[in-house]
Parts: sequence; structure tokens; C-alpha cells
Amino acid sequence: MDLQTTALHAGYEKDTQGTMAVPIYMSTAYEFRDVEHAANLFSLKELGNIYTRLNNPTTDVFEKRFTELEGGEAAIATSSGMSAIFFAIANAAEAGDNIVCAKQLYGGSLTQTAHTFKRFGIESRYFDVQNPSEIEALIDEKTKVIFFESLTNPSIDVADIEAITAIANKHGILTVVDNTVATPVLCRPFEHGADVTVHSASKYTTGQGLAIGGILVERKGLIEKLRANPRYAHFNEPDASYHGLVYVDVGLPPFTLRTRLSLLRDIGAVSSPFNSWLFIQGLEHLSLRMKEHSKNALALAEFLEAHPKVKKVNYPGLKSNSNYKNAQKYFQDGLCSGLLSFEVDSLESATKIVNATELYSLVVNIGDSKSIITHPASTTHQQLTPDELDACGVPAGLVRISAGLESSSDLIADIKQALEA
Ligand code: PLP
Repeated sequence: MDLQTTALHAGYEKDTQGTMAVPIYMSTAYEFRDVEHAANLFSLKELGNIYTRLNNPTTDVFEKRFTELEGGEAAIATSSGMSAIFFAIANAAEAGDNIVCAKQLYGGSLTQTAHTFKRFGIESRYFDVQNPSEIEALIDEKTKVIFFESLTNPSIDVADIEAITAIANKHGILTVVDNTVATPVLCRPFEHGADVTVHSASKYTTGQGLAIGGILVERKGLIEKLRANPRYAHFNEPDASYHGLVYVDVGLPPFTLRTRLSLLRDIGAVSSPFNSWLFIQGLEHLSLRMKEHSKNALALAEFLEAHPKVKKVNYPGLKSNSNYKNAQKYFQDGLCSGLLSFEVDSLESATKIVNATELYSLVVNIGDSKSIITHPASTTHQQLTPDELDACGVPAGLVRISAGLESSSDLIADIKQALEA
């Protein structure tokens, strides 16, 4: 089925009222038919609703629809993109283990991996996403995840997904790909060997900056990689916290099953039914929006590249960009989403430009229908040291734009007057 058709129909069968819009099931809990039914649901002999921290009918439609869009097997909606990333890593690694991450990550993912997971005894080791050959030297028998973004925020690099997943597969290690900026419309990491994807649904999924949420998707057939894999004993041995359940033996997609039964149960960072409903609305026009965002971003990038005050433009849709080849290989029709950045000579110039724009909102978000401008070094990446900033490609003079859905001529006119003010 075509992606646009999937986005409108997958995962929903109309209820007895014939309701066209997916209903919002605002309910904390669900009545069991009797004690046996309750026992069957808890022991997974039957599948069904128990309590909204574990599952919810509206969220279920969002998870099913997103799974199909991504070409995966199952998904878990979460309360934020950060919790989706946390779950993906915590589901694979424990104290004493390590993970190998691209150093070009969203700022929150960098702090989560470098600082929060460190406090839990999980070490993060970093490689340059433009140089996957660095990965092998970082791997040992305690490596549980290789984590990277398909289209990096804010450095706007395109990962060579096949090169990275080939190394991971050679060592039987799980790959987790943050596909937020590309979205399933533009990039399908599972077709290139990835195991798990994560998204911040707060961005292009809602599309209008309406809600915080996330989603984690498991690829088809991941069970075979986990089964009898010594790196992932906890999927192959009885889980004492779930009356001895062995995740690879249940007959359900094991990575999302364990996320739900163990992590959602114990940590509870679940999507609210109302937010899941908003995400469903957003998915209906995601593929239409991504084409327009990409078109506007390319027009802006071409304008900025020709402007004398701009030192460098980062947009993979530009032929001059070092990521152009990867973008053509991994992105649908070479469309590169709405995120671009450009560098001017100093922090002062960058600040002046950001303050002088009128149409763009100074907001720490991306993927809104309204255009956004940000200065990463003073906002999202403020916690990073100057060395860390340079390492993840965020110099002080970098300005990031999330191109919205306004007309491209208005967007260009406003950035021109800001540059020349
Ligand atoms: N991943 C990427 C690529 C992001 O850009 C963001 C937020 O900007 C996140 C994850 C975190 O998502 P959330 O804000 O929904 O927690």
C-alpha cells in the first residue's frame, strides 16, 4: 500500500458507531469480563487492554499506523522522543555495558547518553557519523547498542545507514536509529538493515507543534537477531519480574514486548490518549507536508549559499554538500526534510540575524508548520563544553532553521533582510 494511503487508514477499524475519526479513549483502566479474563491478560494468554500505562485503544491505532509507515513489526508510543530513546537503550543495556553513539546527535540525546546513562553505569563511546570506520575500534563484548540519527540535528549530516548496520550485524549488535528529522516518508531505515527506530513525535508527526511524544519501532524479524545472542541474555532467560517470561519464546515482537511489559510498566513514560490522537491527525498529511518542507528548505539553502555573509550552508539537498550522495541514496526522491543550518562569522552576527527575523519564531523546536530559527550554541546545546560543541558540529556562529510551510519567497525575503539589517 502507498504510504499516503497507509497514513489515512492503517491500524483502525471503525467501531459500531461507524466513527470516521479515530475515537479518543480517555480511560485509565478497562473492565475485565471476569477473574479468568484478567488472569489471561496478565499472563499474555489473551491480548487486550489492562491499564493505560500499558496500552490504550487510541494509542494502539497510532502505534499500528506508525509501524506500517516505518515498515516495521511493532511499536511503542512514549511520552516524548527522549523517553523513546531512553527505552531503546535501557531495553538493551545494563550497568557495566557500553553503547556506541554518533557524536552528531540532538543535544538532549548527547546529555542522556554521556551523563544520565553514565550514572546508571552504562558508558557511551562516540564516533563521527561521517566516518563509520571509527565504530569497530569502539566495540567490545559489552557493547549493546549502536545509536545514530538518520538525518542529524542540528549538524544535518546523513548517516551511511548500510555501512553502520553492516558493522553492527557483523558483531550481532542492535542498531537504534533516530529517524525524527527524516520521518518514514523520506527515509526507511529498516530497508537498510536497522533494527529499531525512535522518533520524537513532537516534530513532524504532529506537524504543528501541538504535543510532546515519541515512538519506538521494532523491525520485522528482529527476534532472530536476539535469539541465543549472548549479548542479550535478558531476552533469552526467564524474567523474574514477569513470572519467568522468556521474551523470545512468547511469539510476539520481543523488543517492543519487553519495552511494554518491563519499562512502560516500571517507568511509565507513556503517550496520553489525547496526544496519540493528535499524532494520528498529523500522520494523515505527513507525506504531503514533508514534500513542502523539503522544497522550502532547498529554496532557502540555495539562497543562503549564494549570500556573501554566509560562510557555509548545511543542507544535504545541495549538490555542493558532502552528504548529497547519501541523501540521494537514502531519501525518497532525494528530498531532505525541512532542517538546514548556516554559519556566519561569529556568535554576535548569528545573534543579530536571529533577532532581526520577523517571520521566523525563535523557538527550540523543529518540524512545525510555522518556520523556526534557533541559535543552538546558546539554547539546545548550551550544556555542552566548547570542545563538545565543535565535536558535534555546532560552532558558535551556527544558525539553524526549520523551514515551515509558508511561501518560500516570504521565507527568503525575511532571512535576506535579517542578514542585511
Ligand atoms: N531526537 C531528535 C532528533 C530531536 O530533534 C529531538 C528534539 O528536538 C528529540 C529526539 C527529543 O524529542 P522530545 O522533545 O519529543 O523529547
